[in-house]
Amino acid sequence: MKKNIVILSGDGIGPEVTNEAVKVLKVTGEASGVDIKIKEGLIGGVSLDTEGIPISDETVRKCKQADALFLGAVGGPEWDALPKDQKPESGLLILRKELGLFTNLRPVKVFPSLFDASPLRREIVQGIDVLVVRELTGGIYFGKPRFIESVGDEEHAVDTMEYRTSEIERIARVAFRAAQDRRRKVVSVDKANILMTSQLWRKTVNRVAKDYPDVSLDHMLVDNCAMQLVRNPKQFDVLLTCNMFGDILSDEASMLAGSLGMLPSASLGDCNGLYEPAHGSAPDIAGKELANPLAAICSVALMYRLSFGMESAARCIENGVQSVLNEGFRTSDLFSSGNGETLVSTSEMGNKVMERIKDSFPSSQ
Ligand code: NAD
Repeated sequence: MKKNIVILSGDGIGPEVTNEAVKVLKVTGEASGVDIKIKEGLIGGVSLDTEGIPISDETVRKCKQADALFLGAVGGPEWDALPKDQKPESGLLILRKELGLFTNLRPVKVFPSLFDASPLRREIVQGIDVLVVRELTGGIYFGKPRFIESVGDEEHAVDTMEYRTSEIERIARVAFRAAQDRRRKVVSVDKANILMTSQLWRKTVNRVAKDYPDVSLDHMLVDNCAMQLVRNPKQFDVLLTCNMFGDILSDEASMLAGSLGMLPSASLGDCNGLYEPAHGSAPDIAGKELANPLAAICSVALMYRLSFGMESAARCIENGVQSVLNEGFRTSDLFSSGNGETLVSTSEMGNKVMERIKDSFPSSQ
């Protein structure tokens, strides 16, 4: 089997964590008989600096032809002053829209050896298994009009939150189908007491729910959900959210897993999938070998599972991560007591996982 993968490493810690993810992608491919062909592409700040735009048509074309895509992260302070359409982040928004990537899946699980790494108590995080299903190509990140204008002696800014029934319906179906393979519980998050888009969201989700009588549905206001995620996260199975609420709640949920550096994600839609860690470019630690590459590596596991249908390869990667954590290796975001823990750099962590994956495929030695 041959798979063409486009790698977009991006900015800040993007290239550092992508290096480790690519090692894992290749070694898993070699061990499981997949011929991984890699092409690189520019996105974000690095694309702005090289090509003057956050993503080129040529890169988008290359991405459309690939079997799957991997992205590190985009953005950084050096590009913050640029107008919105020329910011690095708009490269990612363009890519999501062009590829029709309307679904973002963010599984939040806690590796047993990290039960004490979360700022929450062990008994709260132990056994968490939440899937955030976030709508990714609509809502306030894409709605128009959006502008900043001068009005008298001050400025005035407008963003628009908009959703169509069809956009809500298709993401709701993803959530209900995912729940059918899990604990059959969907909590749909909205702000229906205030927002018109949320009222349409709730009405549409209620209608779609009738097609999935085996799945229970509850609605929760986003402010309550933010509180419940730290009070009792184990109540959640599938969390269905619009674009902005999912962005915010999944960063919050990442702390249940110990660090933002532990949360993988998959963006799926009309054609191929885009896999990326849920974190950003972390300019505060970029270039220092401090970044945790495990979210990026676990995103590769999602690629094997969801794009290539190779569950055993995906498990092999996740087991490799679990073994390395069980042995006490920690990047600085997870390092706490030093008791039984060994502090490792980004590349040392990637190498350890790669070794464990090789060990678990005896035929590759
Ligand atoms: P961030 O996710 O980059 O960082 C938030 C905090 O988490 C920082 O303290 C950072 O050091 C830490 N962190 C993040 N990833 C880590 C990792 N792998 N290992 C260890 N620590 C990690 O969010 P931010 O600081 O708000 O944003 C920085 C830039 O990233 C901005 O330009 C933002 O627009 C961009 N961003 C990009 C994406 C993306 O590419 N998908 C997502 C979010 C933010």
